[in-house]
Amino acid sequence: MNKIKMINPIVEMDGDEMTRIIWAMIKENLILPFVDLNTEYYDLGLVHRNETDDTVTIECANAIKKHKIGVKCATITPNAQRMTEYNLKKMWKSPNGTIREILDGTVFREPIIVRNIMPTVSCWKKPIIIARHAYGDVYSAKEYKVTSAGCLKAEYLFKNGESENIQGFDFDSEGIIQIMHNKDISITSFARSCFNFALERNMDLWFSTKDTISKKYDHHFKDIFSQVFNNEYADRFKSAGIEYFYTLIDDAVARVIRSEGGFIWALKNYDGDVMSDMVSSAFGSLAMMTSVLVSPDNQFEFEAAHGTVTRHYYKHLKGEKTSTNPIATIFAWTGALKKRGEMDSTNDLVVFSDNLEKSCIEAIEQGYITKDLQNLVVSDKITVMDTESFIINIAKRLKEKMI
Ligand code: NAP
Ligand code: MG
Repeated sequence: MNKIKMINPIVEMDGDEMTRIIWAMIKENLILPFVDLNTEYYDLGLVHRNETDDTVTIECANAIKKHKIGVKCATITPNAQRMTEYNLKKMWKSPNGTIREILDGTVFREPIIVRNIMPTVSCWKKPIIIARHAYGDVYSAKEYKVTSAGCLKAEYLFKNGESENIQGFDFDSEGIIQIMHNKDISITSFARSCFNFALERNMDLWFSTKDTISKKYDHHFKDIFSQVFNNEYADRFKSAGIEYFYTLIDDAVARVIRSEGGFIWALKNYDGDVMSDMVSSAFGSLAMMTSVLVSPDNQFEFEAAHGTVTRHYYKHLKGEKTSTNPIATIFAWTGALKKRGEMDSTNDLVVFSDNLEKSCIEAIEQGYITKDLQNLVVSDKITVMDTESFIINIAKRLKEKMI
């Protein structure tokens, strides 16, 4: 069989711990035998980020701007414990945070549905896609620890030299301060990405914030969405037969649980972070969820929604076999390769990606699974496998489809 050629490269971002091990296995068994892989490689493993003073993260984000498509392995976000474990020069920022700050945009997270995993919420029949704003709010907030009584004074300085006072706060003892922001340009592009995605997928769009309490901040998000919708999308939604509606986040949570799914739920940065974990877990597992960052300029970064699975990695280091689920990482690769195929009109790449996804789903539906799915899958016969055997099982299915 001739290997599939790629006209343009994708940006490949390697990562840490167990997912780094899985990354190499996926390439070796599922991609390289079939595709003449063309990637621009960046090592975002913590060791290399530390060596490069984290400039590698900025370089790879700029590479995604150039090549339009990236695929990222999960990476460690350092905390105090990692400082000693990796002997770090500095507590480097989250690579995802840095990349999102540079690319801006929206993260869409969608559960991978298989027939033999029933959602915990029994009325959910169709996927719920989370659209998470990927810029600002608490992720780039400034924080300050108040150590004794005093007052917070805040002032906004305009470029022309004028200024305006913002109401502060009087502390009569110790406390804590957080200052966060967002930008209209980013909120507007968040809104547009959501409306475009809803049209592309022909699904209703829900948006929720806490505007009753956050009367200026959250209300501003609501107003921008409403303005963009009325000016640019209302007619297109009507002809597509889909609906946009805004509701308070408390109400949305209750409705989501009672719904049968089949819609996109747009959320601010923090809400989307938390709710996507909730929704993916209720659909089965964090390892059964795809995640893609779509920038306002139509650049795409595909990744898994879960972390580096540290606990499994420590077992792996002791020489034990682990049963870590590679599905989300495989789907990050298929998402990126499929998008490359679509953009470059290389249909072979699209067909290959579809076949690889089908092979994954088929394996699980026939009861070949990793341990995390053991209590979720309803099948007559279940075979729990270690990661490598599971990937090889998928590779055999893929080979049959690619002949
Ligand atoms: P995690 O890596 O997602 O793992 C938490 C637990 O979830 C695991 O111990 C495992 O449970 C289960 N799990 C997650 N993914 C799995 C998979 N593919 N297959 C089977 N089980 C899976 O989260 P964490 O332990 O909180 O974080 C570890 C590191 O990842 C941290 O350094 C964090 O900074 C980083 N992180 C990175 C990203 C990213 O790059 N996108 C996202 C989140 C966290 P059991 O142990 O019970 O089997
Ligand atoms: Mg999260």
